[in-house]
Amino acid sequence: MLLDPSPSPSPSPTSLDATLILAEHESGSIKPQTVSTVVAANSLGENSSISLLLAGSGSSLQEAAAQAASCHPSVSEVLVADSDKFEYPLAEPWAKLVEFVRQQGDYSHILASSSSFGKNILPRVAALLDVSPITDVVKILESNQFIRPIYAGNALSTVRYTGGGPCMLTIRSTSFPVTPITVDSESRKATISQIDLSNFKEGSFTFLLCIPILNFSFFFKKLSFPFPIADSASKSRYVGCSTQDTERPDLGSARVVITGGRALKSVENFKMIEKLAEKLGGAVGATRAAVDAGYVPNDLQVGQTGKIVAPELYMAFGVSGAIQHLAGIKDSKVIVAVNKDADAPIFQVADYGLVGDLFEVIPELLEKLPEK
Ligand code: FAD
Repeated sequence: MLLDPSPSPSPSPTSLDATLILAEHESGSIKPQTVSTVVAANSLGENSSISLLLAGSGSSLQEAAAQAASCHPSVSEVLVADSDKFEYPLAEPWAKLVEFVRQQGDYSHILASSSSFGKNILPRVAALLDVSPITDVVKILESNQFIRPIYAGNALSTVRYTGGGPCMLTIRSTSFPVTPITVDSESRKATISQIDLSNFKEGSFTFLLCIPILNFSFFFKKLSFPFPIADSASKSRYVGCSTQDTERPDLGSARVVITGGRALKSVENFKMIEKLAEKLGGAVGATRAAVDAGYVPNDLQVGQTGKIVAPELYMAFGVSGAIQHLAGIKDSKVIVAVNKDADAPIFQVADYGLVGDLFEVIPELLEKLPEK
């Protein structure tokens, strides 16, 4: 589907081919979804330069992440913003930071991955820059033409960016490979620059200016001035982060995903899925019905409103195969489904299907698979 049918190709968003990527980092390394975003940015043009924006608060881990990022062969510059304002990935200070960085470098493209980080921050930046962002890009055709899924992944639309200002994209990381970064002094090519934040204003302070006009009524005009302490910055605050202490791989980038549905019936029974995932070195996923029933936390939800996965092996136990669930697993290489209903829609997309009771199949699998 071509949403913009105009026959004449429109020019690139700006004459410069410079891309700014909002980087996610953890424990001193760049997250895989940021690496996929760099791969995507590579297809924007051969001569495009890529700058990685890495923000955080004065830790050695941030420094290690910057060093790692500088070793990526496609990255030409790593911009480091070091301030306690960026200790947590809150959208308000981050969006202001991107606007600030953009004022200093005329980027033609601003990219983030379609993770919860990117989905939180990029739309706010887009609003600040008065740009319409293009989300969930799965293919880059030209520097201003992209493919993205619509209708829960049932159709692909080709969209062309014709606006002014930077072209802003979120990238579906499962659609672009993760090339491993070799971190050593020889592969270090990109420059690492600290951003001077002395003029950085976190928000803007809005007040009403009243101007008397002839009939003595008042005309109100809204003005915004940059102020260090301000309204937009205080709209959200960091409360806490709860993560599961697990050695299992990250669901979004795991090579094997074992998913359980509503049919598991309880938290206790869901442990079978966890055991199987452990034996196969995979991540645990769940349907929304299983999450809503409280069997697992919602960060394990796979699908349209959960995580998009693209593992080598996806195993679904007691999952009906609702369209919203399939939207998150379509790019999996091999799909295996176990369901006691032979007509369950999951079998239409499964490469291997077994009609059977999961309460018999999983214990048998656990017994036959060797200990890890
Ligand atoms: P069910 O549909 O109840 O299916 C259970 C299956 O288990 C059945 O097929 C049954 O035959 C089988 N079964 C039962 N007992 C056994 C047994 N002992 N052994 C083997 N098989 C058995 N869903 C998601 O998953 N992810 C999303 O992101 C998502 N987003 C949504 C967004 C919107 C806007 C809406 C409206 C819905 C969304 N949903 C999402 C919900 C989705 O429509 C389905 O309701 C949900 O996926 C169903 O989950 P389920 O397959 O676990 O449950």
